[in-house]
Amino acid sequence: MTSQTIPSPIRVRFAPSPTGNLHLGGARTALFNFLFARHHRGVFLLRIEDTDRERSTDSAIAAILDGMRWLDLTWDEGPIYQTSRLDRYRDVALDLMARGHAYRCSCTPDELEERRKEAQAKGLPPRYDGRCRDRHVSPETPHVIRFRNTPDQIFAFSDLIRGPLSFDGNLLDDLVILRTDGMPTYNFAVVVDDADMKITHVIRGDDHINNTPRQIAIFRALGAEIPLFAHLPMIFGSDRTKLSKRHGATSVMAYRDMGYLPHALANYLVRLGWSHKDQEIFSREELIALFDLDHVGSSPSVFNPEKLLWLNAHYIKNSPDAALAPLATELLAPIEEPLPGSSDPDYRAHVMGLLKGRARTLAELAESSHPFLDRALTIDPAAREKALRTDSIPILDSLLTALGSLQEWNAETLKNVFTQIGEAQNRKLGDLAQPVRVALTGKTVSPGIFDVLILLGREVSLTRISGALSELRKNIMAPSPESSSPRKDHP
Ligand code: GLU
Repeated sequence: MTSQTIPSPIRVRFAPSPTGNLHLGGARTALFNFLFARHHRGVFLLRIEDTDRERSTDSAIAAILDGMRWLDLTWDEGPIYQTSRLDRYRDVALDLMARGHAYRCSCTPDELEERRKEAQAKGLPPRYDGRCRDRHVSPETPHVIRFRNTPDQIFAFSDLIRGPLSFDGNLLDDLVILRTDGMPTYNFAVVVDDADMKITHVIRGDDHINNTPRQIAIFRALGAEIPLFAHLPMIFGSDRTKLSKRHGATSVMAYRDMGYLPHALANYLVRLGWSHKDQEIFSREELIALFDLDHVGSSPSVFNPEKLLWLNAHYIKNSPDAALAPLATELLAPIEEPLPGSSDPDYRAHVMGLLKGRARTLAELAESSHPFLDRALTIDPAAREKALRTDSIPILDSLLTALGSLQEWNAETLKNVFTQIGEAQNRKLGDLAQPVRVALTGKTVSPGIFDVLILLGREVSLTRISGALSELRKNIMAPSPESSSPRKDHP
């Protein structure tokens, strides 16, 4: 694609401007850079582009670093802060000036605005008219430094994703490279850095594609090696407009808080633009082995939250129980009265093992584990309505008596009790299990009923069944307007 020789090793960077959270698009850019570097055994550098002092914040820097660490995107160099390199940008700007590639400009914003309007009125492009190009503005006068654009240049490059692109240099402005306060502008700082940091491949969002010819012009003036460029296509929401808050959560950490696993989110993000046959699930090692820019498509991808949820469920199901326990604990609602032994890591891991097959997020996993950790049980009103009815009384009553007299509490003895009562009352196992399930977990969906009984143990199981039973009996005696009394259906 290019005749340029690329120095070895490959060096790439992720260069966020810390003006907000790490969002999904930024995370995908970081991920692609990370994978590209790891695949080629190159270097992945993190650079914080914080020269816009009004919009850059420490909390945004912290959020970006947290997001990168959470996604397990370790960088090899940095973070390098552009604000720690201001002297370097000034020196390079002065050097460009000394070599005739830049000049001081003292036009004030008001003057520029006036001339822009005049140009527009004449139907001319609203560009800087070059007034200060040869005026030799004194360094004492308040000024900016502008890059001197060489006329009649063509900026052609072969984008590794978009293919050959070419821009007419005559359309470029003499852009400001250093502001009056000495701060470099984005296009200038990025080139000085990419040159100094020996970046070989610039992989970034295609919102920067129009900046690329401007940057190439500066690379040329610096006499620096021009990196290869790979501009990643946009990420759309379902309505095919740029992904934004309107489409739901866009910050990486919001996904952590909703109970997504970092590797599930990364696996989802990598497929926004990159593919390997029709494979959907990749371990990190596989991604490193397979990822390259050849299979990054040039058309926008559409963010699909359902698919992300599906992937997350897959990752949860395949995570070790002991690893899930502390993650789900972070999302657990407050525990009123811990069940005995429920803080034991082995017990918690066991709970995860029973529940993880049905959870799509860690938040769902935390929610479904609550009845196994807290003595206080909340019964879902819809589950109560469905499964704790008047006709559940004889079931719960007989089970309570039979279970209460069991000598041993294990799968076999429990199963025998259910079978015998089922036969005696002419009911199927499911008819018996459902009211017990709701009495024990507050929900109509849970792991197998014998697993639940064993996990909760005799004392808690019997207390909950007996509690549900008394509640039902109380409702028959005195239905209260708040309770979901079964009497409405069964007078
Ligand atoms: N700081 C720029 C941004 O956050 C990225 C610059 C680049 O990758 O060239 O959009």
